[in-house]
Amino acid sequence: MMVIIPFDNSYARLPERFYAPVRPTGVAAPRLVRLNIPLASELGLDPDWLSGPEGIAMLAGNSVVAGAFPIATAYAGHQFGGFSPQLGDGRAILLGEVVDRHGQRRDIQLKGAGPTPFSRRGDGRAALGSVLREYIVSEAMAGLGVPTTRALAAVLTGEGVRRETVLPGAILTRVASSHIRIGTFQFFAARGDVEALRLLADHVIARHYPDPAGSGNPYLGLLEAVIAAQAALVARWMLIGFIHGVMNTDNMSIAGETIDYGPCAFMDTYDPGTVFSSIDEYGRYSYGNQPPIARWNLTRFAEALLPLLADDQDKAVSIAQDVLNHFDGLFQSSLVAGFRQKLGLVTDDPDDVELIKALLETMQRGQADFTLVFRRLSEDALQAANGSACRDLFGNPAELDDWESRWRERLLKEPVPAETRQNAMCRINPLFIPRNHRVEAAIQAAVEQGDLGPFEELIAVLARPYDRQPGREDYALPPAFHERVTATFCGT
Ligand code: AMP
Ligand code: MG
Repeated sequence: MMVIIPFDNSYARLPERFYAPVRPTGVAAPRLVRLNIPLASELGLDPDWLSGPEGIAMLAGNSVVAGAFPIATAYAGHQFGGFSPQLGDGRAILLGEVVDRHGQRRDIQLKGAGPTPFSRRGDGRAALGSVLREYIVSEAMAGLGVPTTRALAAVLTGEGVRRETVLPGAILTRVASSHIRIGTFQFFAARGDVEALRLLADHVIARHYPDPAGSGNPYLGLLEAVIAAQAALVARWMLIGFIHGVMNTDNMSIAGETIDYGPCAFMDTYDPGTVFSSIDEYGRYSYGNQPPIARWNLTRFAEALLPLLADDQDKAVSIAQDVLNHFDGLFQSSLVAGFRQKLGLVTDDPDDVELIKALLETMQRGQADFTLVFRRLSEDALQAANGSACRDLFGNPAELDDWESRWRERLLKEPVPAETRQNAMCRINPLFIPRNHRVEAAIQAAVEQGDLGPFEELIAVLARPYDRQPGREDYALPPAFHERVTATFCGT
């Protein structure tokens, strides 16, 4: 057979208890909905082949190309705080890995390609709506420069999936630097399988963190590296108003990428209590709770690693605790550095934290739109205060005026020309985010009318989130009252 895709499957070379070999289940009438051509090229894949009959057959799970070794990976996880010792890929099948144009190893996975030994009562399928949501939001995150899994393709299966109603079925081809999760470590830790834990840790170190510090102990270095990556990632989320929605430990990537886009959404008006997920009754995964939840998840990761940290359990616990204590500082410094950038500040001033806090509080009281406030401050950065476009976003404009004069005074201490500042701010504060009402409208048009136009347009807008795009101004707007989406369903 001719080699079309140069797969090199390092995860499948791990022992068999790490996964189950499984063939995708073919579908009736596959149709390509979208192919991500730039990503295909980055991966060294031929877009023409991928969008031809053989490529579509692979993306639909109707054929397994030479070199692929399809598997469902085993993992466990804490879901909403409760531990499930056995989850695993129930509707995702890893075809294999390729090394991309930059020398980076990437997983190619089909999501929705049929049942696996881990499907439990699930059908192994995905509905078109959830596939499009993941496509839109993961690609938007990539456009925003946030570490994330990517969407290579979406295909319709030509079959229905039974949820509350029958919905069109689809398959997403997801690309990730790996699909190893905190829950993958928990899977082996829960079984007391220290040998597997060590093999997994060695695999992750070689693949993601080849130069860990860890003062001589590579596993301590791994723990430090994962904590640093997660702290940086969640800070990025907070800086753009992203709410993951299901930060279960099986949905937290060891590589520090945003993964598993379910009921995720972007916050419009600033409120730390914002929750969209219809299954998150108590707001465990609200916007403002994401940093402590990340720390909680990392504590579960550290627990899983204990047998590798020291022979003596008490010593291992104390080592782990020391490292976990770095999380808050790492997160806070990433967050503050990010907010400084958002406000156009290149120097550090001890009063900046207070300045940032005051703006957020003013926004919350004035129900101002998080994204637009920073964008308009950027666009106004050259003008004097008062009469600024930012004012209109606040229910309490006089409070903003007070804050803005503090900010402008602070700017006087900056060594940077105002124009340079304005440019830098417009490159860090997006104009376009995947607003939930736009995402829902694009999904609805596709699912109910078979109209992919709004989906395509939204993807195009979000590929350039920092650029003004003439004719597309409306995409920057928050929802009108009647357009507001208050709950996002998993719709899996
Ligand atoms: P998620 O909430 O999407 O992260 O999924 C949690 C677990 O449920 C994972 O083990 C999934 O593989 C599994 N799962 C979710 N939906 C399905 C489905 N339709 N069929 C089989 N397994 C599923
Ligand atoms: Mg998941």
